[in-house]
Amino acid sequence: MTPFTYHRATTVDEALQLGRQPGTRYIGGGTNLLDLAKAGVEQPIHLVDVGWLPLGTIESLPDGGARIGATASNADTANHALIRERYPLLSQALLAGASGQLRNMATVGGNLMQRTRCHYFYDTGFSACNKRAPGSGCGALQGVHRMHAILGASEHCIAVNPSDMSVALAALEAVVVVRGDGGERRIAIADFHRLPGNTPQFDTVLRPGEMIVAVDLPPSRLAGHCHYLKVRDRASYAFALVSVAAALELDGRNVRSARLALGGVAHKPWRVPAAEQVLVGRPLSTPAASEAARLLLDGARPLPNNAYKLALAQHAVVRALGIAAGGMA
Ligand code: SF4
Repeated sequence: MTPFTYHRATTVDEALQLGRQPGTRYIGGGTNLLDLAKAGVEQPIHLVDVGWLPLGTIESLPDGGARIGATASNADTANHALIRERYPLLSQALLAGASGQLRNMATVGGNLMQRTRCHYFYDTGFSACNKRAPGSGCGALQGVHRMHAILGASEHCIAVNPSDMSVALAALEAVVVVRGDGGERRIAIADFHRLPGNTPQFDTVLRPGEMIVAVDLPPSRLAGHCHYLKVRDRASYAFALVSVAAALELDGRNVRSARLALGGVAHKPWRVPAAEQVLVGRPLSTPAASEAARLLLDGARPLPNNAYKLALAQHAVVRALGIAAGGMA
């Protein structure tokens, strides 16, 4: 591992000041960054520990929404009474991720920043990985890509975002609050993670030195009918092959509004407004849910090893919606 300096920041301003040094990485729980540093994938020169900053509170906002501090742990967030009551979809997604020990350490800010689990990215013995070494190629494209993207990928990278939490945040239309030299910036979750394009080394739109300070959740009427469905190779401690965050606002049996997001299929949580709109104004039925799934997956370009994801996602969307609604019409 490359030597690095370590500094525990006590204020956000101090962290931002230290973050201006080239080669600095912020570290929260360290559940991803330390693995990457030990593997030689990340080689920080300076580590600024933001895990001790007073950013761990979860509180109600005046508009009926909620603010989750960036250093709140995944476990505390999932089990917080306010989140369980108003945003059970987020609680479900968090509890579907990682293990109990990891959820105790991992922070909400760090979860948003976690990097892909593509094996070629993690193994520095493979020379071709545009995300790790821009311009070197993509080992997964012609190699093993069973876990990789079927939507929004490019010839430069077919990796997927591994976060469960971010899929629920996408469905809940969260806002990521960041601070940097230019002051505070609010970024819709839909715009926070990037598609790979020809610069897959950048996972998010964060600017150099910026740090996440909070995640804001708007008021929601989706708490009563929601479900996070994660399909994976084993029952726990595995990344999603496909996941679905489904949430409905019902008026009697009719759908008044709907939110759908897919995980495990793209470089970012995948949402298509038309897929949600097709459910509105009528009772949820299997044909309507199937049509929503079809619209959500429109434009998918599976590869030989991951073509199974198309049918898997189609069925997972229908199933998640059915569970969220408490049954089909
Ligand atoms: Fe690297 Fe992306 Fe290709 Fe994986 S899919 S090898 S992360 S460029």
